[in-house]
Amino acid sequence: MPAVSPALPGTFDVVVIGAGVIGCAIARRFALEGARVAVIEKADDILDGASKANSAILHTGFDAPVGSLEQVCVAAGYAEYEEIHAKLNLPLIRCGALVIAWTEAEAALLPELIAQAEANGVADVEPLTEAETRRLEPGLGAGLQAAFRVPREYLVDPWSAPLAYLAQAIANGAELLRGAEVTGGQLDGDWTLQTTRGPVTGRIVVNAAGLYGDVLDERLLGKKDFAIRPRKGQFIVYDKPAASLASHILLPVPNKVTKGIVVCRTAFGNLLVGPTAEEQDDRETAALVPETLEALRRRGEEILPGLKAEEVTALYAGLRPATETKDYRITAHSAQRMITVGGIRSTGLSSALGTARHVLRLAEAMGHATQPPVDPVWPEVPAISAFARRDWQQPGNGGIVCHCESVTRREILAALDGPLKAQTLAGLKRRTRVTMGRCQGFYCSAELARLTEGRLAQPMLGHD
Ligand SMILES: Cc1cc2nc3c(=O)[nH]c(=O)nc-3n(C[C@H](O)[C@H](O)[C@H](O)COP(=O)(O)OP(=O)(O)OC[C@H]3O[C@@H](n4cnc5c(N)ncnc54)[C@H](O)[C@@H]3O)c2cc1C
Repeated sequence: MPAVSPALPGTFDVVVIGAGVIGCAIARRFALEGARVAVIEKADDILDGASKANSAILHTGFDAPVGSLEQVCVAAGYAEYEEIHAKLNLPLIRCGALVIAWTEAEAALLPELIAQAEANGVADVEPLTEAETRRLEPGLGAGLQAAFRVPREYLVDPWSAPLAYLAQAIANGAELLRGAEVTGGQLDGDWTLQTTRGPVTGRIVVNAAGLYGDVLDERLLGKKDFAIRPRKGQFIVYDKPAASLASHILLPVPNKVTKGIVVCRTAFGNLLVGPTAEEQDDRETAALVPETLEALRRRGEEILPGLKAEEVTALYAGLRPATETKDYRITAHSAQRMITVGGIRSTGLSSALGTARHVLRLAEAMGHATQPPVDPVWPEVPAISAFARRDWQQPGNGGIVCHCESVTRREILAALDGPLKAQTLAGLKRRTRVTMGRCQGFYCSAELARLTEGRLAQPMLGHD
């Protein structure tokens, strides 16, 4: 039989499977340590799984189980994001959060939660009376009992962050293979992974397959020690004027299953209400359910009655890679030279950089050792947050294409170019915000179809 030519030539020190936020951060960490890294993603573009839809809160980990791996990774990820975000041109909206008790029973839980925060190293939480809470957030609805403030819970851009991590990995030598599903593999000294685009060889394999983490373990190890049961979260995004209704992230008292319904601004200047927590078997589709969204809307209006007068921009839903336990399922399979990074359920955006450091330590315990580059490259991602100076404010941008989100022709063309170029319309939206505003692409889709012609895996339709 003729040898199948490899999808990527040579032997990599580390092959990361999955380009969600966790895989992107792991690729960055290993590349910054000097490893030769490959990232394999089955979708036509990155961030196509759990990482495509979340609340975009940079959590401190104040409510994580004390002593859990999740808490350790969130704390480390949070610290590193704070340290590096400006260098990568990533936003950080330092708004703080209020954890609000709406019933007497919830109010009785606040001291315990404050003690938990302190045990998790989040020592700056402030208990608030009802009056103090209302002074901070005058728009809150009836029934409020008491609250506490977590000053360092922040908002970030959920897509630019992983994009920046992978861009930095690539700028420091990593290679990305998209549209390539890992279907199996053999360990014979090194790993040879079978992908739908040909084999890839590596010394250590990292399973960062998110919603398919258990499936991939079965394919590569012939066994799995956890089962993913996707947990859907639906959201309502309100128009930008609604963002003036709340300055903090408004959190409920969390329960054992979920952090509950949050009301917060977004890095793009909107206000969102969500997510729900609904278990399902389907790993692909996060369907929007009108009755659930109606209940979500009513809950949002109870929290912030001013929302009754606000318009909705969009609805969306995401899937958390939940397992039968709350904590992360990160395992080093030393004999198989494989690390599974599974069950990164509801804090992966916050923990990604910390999780990546944890995975590096596990690989080092397996004998992985490389020499970090003397002068690593720090690429900047385009500023697309509402809190940054945007391209439309700079000369030579080619004019605005998407007027709702002020996206310029230059921003779109730049996102369609380079080693991490958008290959799907969804990927282009996540890189630029194009079509994500009030009109949802009604006015700019024809122009966008012209600009993207011949460049996307699935062409946009109907620009004539
Ligand atoms: C509703 C909701 C709200 C959330 N809110 C927050 C929040 O506010 N703050 C926070 O920190 N976190 C939040 N999260 C959690 C966060 O989004 C997740 O923890 C994170 O996205 C998990 O990322 P991942 O990389 O592990 O998985 P994924 O994003 O699913 O990435 C896995 C990738 O692997 C690819 N893949 C799978 N199988 C294969 C294969 N065989 N071959 C090649 N590629 C493969 C997939 O296509 C996918 O791109 C929220 C999540 C949800 C759903």
